[in-house]
Amino acid sequence: MKRNHLIKPILDHNYPTVSHGKGIYLYDTDGKQYIDGSSGAVTASIGHGVLDVVEAMTEQASKVSFAYRSHFTSEAAETLAEKLSELAPGDLNWSFFVNSGSEATETAMKIAIQHWQEKGFERKNRIVSRWTSYHGITMGALSMSGHVSRRKRFVPLLEDFPSISAPYCYRCPYESSGCKLQCANELETSIQRLGSENIAAFIAEPIIGASAGAVTPPDGYYQRIKEICERYDILFIADEVMTGIGRTGKMFAMEHWGVTPDIIALGKGMSAGYTPIAATLVSDRVMEPILKGSKSIMAGHTYSANPLSAAVSLEVLAYIERMNLVQAAEEKGQYLLEKLHGLAERFDIIGDVRGKGLLLGLEFVSNRSSKTPFDLQDGITTRIVNKAFEKGLLIYPASGAIEGIAGDAVIISPPLVITNEEIDSLVKILEASVEELQ
Ligand code: PLP
Repeated sequence: MKRNHLIKPILDHNYPTVSHGKGIYLYDTDGKQYIDGSSGAVTASIGHGVLDVVEAMTEQASKVSFAYRSHFTSEAAETLAEKLSELAPGDLNWSFFVNSGSEATETAMKIAIQHWQEKGFERKNRIVSRWTSYHGITMGALSMSGHVSRRKRFVPLLEDFPSISAPYCYRCPYESSGCKLQCANELETSIQRLGSENIAAFIAEPIIGASAGAVTPPDGYYQRIKEICERYDILFIADEVMTGIGRTGKMFAMEHWGVTPDIIALGKGMSAGYTPIAATLVSDRVMEPILKGSKSIMAGHTYSANPLSAAVSLEVLAYIERMNLVQAAEEKGQYLLEKLHGLAERFDIIGDVRGKGLLLGLEFVSNRSSKTPFDLQDGITTRIVNKAFEKGLLIYPASGAIEGIAGDAVIISPPLVITNEEIDSLVKILEASVEELQ
């Protein structure tokens, strides 16, 4: 008998089969409609079924889909690199294209190390990162990630890069002494312990996504981080894989704090899910010793900079500009945030509402005044996500950073094209889902 051998996220779970998508909606083959309330994994930012992208894809594919980057450059990849340098802050003028966010952060790590090597600092090759963070699933990216449940199985094979606390204000370990940005100062302590002569870079997600659900730092945090990086000659990598390309109401989330990183990792929103493509953006300053030295970045994948993905990404970026979706993210995000605060007033299990633009999160607690998390066995996040799914709403579970201690959260991040009426429908289903489990 023919068996189904597709390895799915949960092997024995019965997933519906997707049929098609339009705007904020996905449909399964039984005709059931789902609101894509998380844009998949915070990816489908322009919504589903955009024909402009399909046309751009077809046009490029009819010319050439793939040409190996060691043999050819392409108009699509060159134009995309030019477009990104136009959009990016400061002198982040160089783009290295890859296929996933994990590859983008891992390439960022490699470029940072190579930068120092080519300047003659062979030992500057460690990365500092935060607990409660996620930078990807490949071994280098996972080494930088402080997402406990994703690391656990592989710990003996990983570097112990995460060493400092996240700027997790809702569960601030320094709360009793007032906010003096001690979570940022931990970076300095960590650098002093390891020795700056051994450290290439510090990496952080501007707003923490998968490991805690849109955890947003206090004002001043990134300014302090950047100051410390500069003082100790350490590069600052912003992992904007989830936050980049308009999601938070700015093209790059780091713009909220006016801080320009040395390297930016991008993914997800770059192609809004229409094709796999991601990028590592690098500043002139970081590239300089490499241009003068080996003249080649020691990274890359077969599909890096393939013309088809580049053409798709270019059209997605053009669509975001044409439809004014960065501003839409800000405005609709404000509207959705107010509605989520309304839900928190109704339901005691919602301990925190947070985020920026259309990257918003809810954290669930069993006791709001003591902020006590639910028991691990309770699986509250899974239960709420499943209940919403049953009712036709997709949301993203973002727990597991510190299993059973904190961070039972979900991300709500619908496509940036969502209307106020559609937000009302989303919130209605979410409300009914929480109500049934409260
Ligand atoms: N970095 C961040 C901030 C992410 O949120 C993710 C994925 O969720 C990644 C990196 C990894 O991206 P990918 O799953 O495309 O490899």
